This record gives sequence, structure tokens and C-alpha cells, in this order.
Amino acid sequence: MAFLPSSYNPWVVTTSLLIASFASYVALDLAKHARMQRRTALLAGALEAANAQLHSVNEELKQQAFLDPLTGLPNRALFEDRLMHAAARSERAARDGTGRSIDKLAVLFIDLDGFKPVNDSLGHSAGDQVLKQAADRLCQAARKSDTVARIGGDEFVLLMEDVAGAEDCEVVARRLVEALATPFDIAGRQVEISGSVGVAVYPDHGLADKLVSHADAAMYAAKRAGGNTHKLFASHMDAGAFEQLSLQNELRHAVEGGQLQLHYQPKVCGKTGHIRGVEALLRWRHPERGMVSPAIFIPIAERFGMITGLGDWVIDEACRQMQAWADDGVRMRVAINLSVHQLRGEQVVRRIEEALARHHVQPSQLLCEITESASMEDIRATQRAFDGLARLGVYLSIDDFGTGYSSLSYLRQLPAQQLKIDRSFVGDIEASDDARAIVDAVIHLAHSLGLTVVAEGVETAGQRDILLALGCDELQGYYFAKPMPADALMAWMHGHKPQDAPEFSPSVVLALADELQI
Ligand code: C2E
Ligand code: MG
Ligand code: MG
Repeated sequence: MAFLPSSYNPWVVTTSLLIASFASYVALDLAKHARMQRRTALLAGALEAANAQLHSVNEELKQQAFLDPLTGLPNRALFEDRLMHAAARSERAARDGTGRSIDKLAVLFIDLDGFKPVNDSLGHSAGDQVLKQAADRLCQAARKSDTVARIGGDEFVLLMEDVAGAEDCEVVARRLVEALATPFDIAGRQVEISGSVGVAVYPDHGLADKLVSHADAAMYAAKRAGGNTHKLFASHMDAGAFEQLSLQNELRHAVEGGQLQLHYQPKVCGKTGHIRGVEALLRWRHPERGMVSPAIFIPIAERFGMITGLGDWVIDEACRQMQAWADDGVRMRVAINLSVHQLRGEQVVRRIEEALARHHVQPSQLLCEITESASMEDIRATQRAFDGLARLGVYLSIDDFGTGYSSLSYLRQLPAQQLKIDRSFVGDIEASDDARAIVDAVIHLAHSLGLTVVAEGVETAGQRDILLALGCDELQGYYFAKPMPADALMAWMHGHKPQDAPEFSPSVVLALADELQI
């Protein structure tokens, strides 16, 4: 074998074979190693890409978990997290022994007034636009350091850190209310809503975990005050939050359950003592709670978007009753109360027109009352609805006059026929010269605008006499009759005769048919 060395030595052969095979092994291994390295590099690259992907999926998930998809604002979970961290920071700072006073925090709870009717009447995409624009406006009005979050349908919250006191928060609250009061431009339409804001400050108004619910209670107080305003939390506001929630659920079933009823209170002509009509007042006969006052459940219905449903029931029931009375030969003018939320919706005029037609009632037999403060809360909506109702031939009245801040020029623009003086003035009229002077001025003002004046809440003969001397046209109150069911009203009209009103006669109700043709 040519390659064998002459001096053949098996050892050398074995060793060289071993070396050769080792070398080839090493060469092989190196190649494998390089391959593995390449593979590892590839794998690492893939891993990195996968990681990046995972990261972005994670981020997305985080966003989904913490951001509101419609407005891009933090959601409730993120807000609560920030609030808890801020409270913990604030507590630590208080304990750090520097003697420095505690950094205060505040939560401002914002709820849009009249959002539901906009959403219902203009559709959900318009509603979404309003929410997005509202979110932008709230962010603009807030301070840079504040967190604005959306925590429910039309509910937003704002977290303010490092506040010196409640005054700071009230400045911001006012800005938020103003920001929402400007009309919204939705697909070329002017949409008017407003906002109610509740403010709760930590630690002044309780522990951090109660801040949101306290701000919510304060917001609700702002709503009850007519909306488009803010309120600072006070301890009495907290009571009944649970109660409201359960009432809200039960109210949803009240219409179908036949638990609603209209009671009627007469309005008596000052000069003749004749009945000029009745006001329909909603009653809720709750199966366990008994009679629930509209002063309690109307604000709940307004807050939870149920007022349009209730209002529609009232419109239909009042018209049905007018027809039933007409069938018995009694033509009665009936006044119903409208909430500003109903006026904001587009349908109220159509609903009333349809109900009148369905029950064959003349439009002039129906009178719609809207409180002065509600009409001021949304001037444009009131004007539009009043114009629509006036075109139908429905009569209009401004209720609880004296409690709002309407201007003479505003009143002149409304096609109303009647003004009702709030019962707080009537209650004081015997004891207070001021109340008497105000009532006197209101009667003059109303008459100069061609409006008739009704005084509500007349409880005594003394009040009645003063009101008549001042020229009040109609009187309504417990002195004459309390609100009562339809059949009780008929019995009262046929049997009752107001004191010192010799000319009073139930037959005038029939004569009303002529008066109604005005
Ligand atoms: P309002 O429209 O100003 O109705 C007059 C309220 O004064 C009624 O209270 C009536 O029972 C009460 N009242 C009448 N005479 C006297 C009196 O001599 N003394 C005193 N102290 N009070 C008297 P009610 O029935 O509790 O209604 C409260 C408010 O709830 C109403 O005030 C009205 O704003 C609202 N409301 C009632 N029914 C409806 C409704 O169907 N729809 C809407 N949106 N609101 C309604
Ligand atoms: Mg009324
Ligand atoms: Mg009233």
C-alpha cells in the first residue's frame, strides 16, 4: 500500500488514524456548529419578532383593558387604578413627617344632561359623535395633569391631584359645565345638551374609595337643581343612593304594571269661582311603598332616561281622560307637566298630536306646563317645542315662575298663554311684604305680556283674598281641593262649592266648551 510508511508501525498508524478522524470530526463539528449558530441566530430573530408581536398584542390587550374604545380615554379600571395610586401617594406624603399639609385629591363626576333623547332621536352614530366631542371638550377644559376617563354611557370622571382646596375644583367644574353648554355640531345639526358635575374632595369628603360615589351623589344633586351646573358633595347627598337604584328598577315596571295614575287638581277662576280646568299630576302607587311622590320619582326617571316613556303615558292618559269626560258631557281643559328632557327630544310634538287625534280631543283643550327653570335650562329646545306645540293649537304655561332667572325678553319670545306663580311666594304672601311685592310685580308683568296668571299652592282664605286683590286670574291649591282621581274630581265638582263663591256652580264645567274656543 503506497501510502503506508516504510517503517510501518501500527501505533503510528492508529494514532494518525485517530488524529485524522478527530480532525474530520472537528471539521464536521465545526460545520454543524456554524449551522447551529445560524439556526440559533435565525431562531433568535424569529423569537425577537415573536416577542415584538407579543408585546404589541399585549399593548393592544392592555389598551382594550384600560382604554375606552370610542373616545380613547382611560376607562373605569384605569381610572380607579390611578385614583388608588394617587390616594396612596397623598397618604405617604402626609406621613413623611415634613409637617406639610396633605395633598388633596378630587374626583369630578360629569353626566351629560339630555344625552338619551339625542341618542334616541338622532341615532347612535350621532350619539357617539356627541360623546367623542364631549370627551375632547372635557380634556381641553381640564388641567394638563388631570385624568379624564369615561366610565359609562354618558358618564365621565376627572381626577385632580395636588389641589389646594374645593375652590380649585369648583373653578374646573365651572369650566367643564361651560364647555358642555355650547351647542354640538353633529353632521351639520346643532345639538344642545349640557352637563351636571359633582365634586368630591379627599380627604374632606371621606375616604378615597368613596370619592367616586360621593362625586356621583353630588352630580345627582346638580341634576336635581336643573342640570347645567355643579355641586360640591355634602353628607346628606349620600343618603338614598341605594334607594334610588332600587326605585329606578321598580319604576321600569310601573307603566306595564298599571301602577301609574293621574290625579287632577282644579284651577279656579279668581273672579267667578268657576273651574277653569285641572292640572294632571302623576302618581305612582307602589305595591309595597304605597304612594311615591313625583318629586322623588320624576328626577329618577329623568336621570335614568325613563322620562320620555312616562311622559308619553301621561300624554295619552290625559287625552284618554278628556275623551272619557267628554263622553259624559264634561269638556275639561287638562294641563300636563312636561320635563325639559321631553322637550329636547324631537317627538314630543308628534306624540301630543297623535294622542289628541287618537282620542278626538281639540288641541286647545290641552295645556302644557313647563317649569321656568327647566325652560331656562335649554332655551332653544323649549322655544322649538313651544313653537311646535303652539302651531298645533295646544296652550302653554310657564310653571313655578319666580324660581328661575328668565328675562323679560325671553318670556316675550315664548308663545305661552299662562304663567304660574311658584307656591313659595304664595306661602309667604300673608307674612312677607317682599313676597307680596314680588307677586304684584309678576302679575303686572304677566298681564302686560298678555299672559293669564295662576297662583299655585293657595292654602288659606287670607292668601286667596290677597291674590284676588292683586288681580290674579286663577287659583289652585289645597284651599280649594287637593289633587284627586278622575272620578273623585267629578264627585267633587258636582257636590262641592267653594266658600264665599256664590257664583260657583258645577254647570260651568259644561259652559267651558265656549271658553275653550278662545
Ligand atoms: P307642579 O307642577 O308645580 O305641581 C304642583 C304641586 O304642588 C303638586 O305636587 C301639587 O300636589 C302641589 N300642591 C298643590 N296645591 C298645593 C297646596 O296648596 N300646598 C302645597 N304645599 N302643595 C300643593 P306633586 O303632585 O307632588 O307634584 C310635584 C311636582 O312633580 C309637580 O310640580 C311637577 O313639577 C312634577 N310632576 C307631577 N306630575 C308630573 C308629570 O306628569 N310629568 C312631569 N314631568 N312632572 C310632573
Ligand atoms: Mg305644574
Ligand atoms: Mg308648579
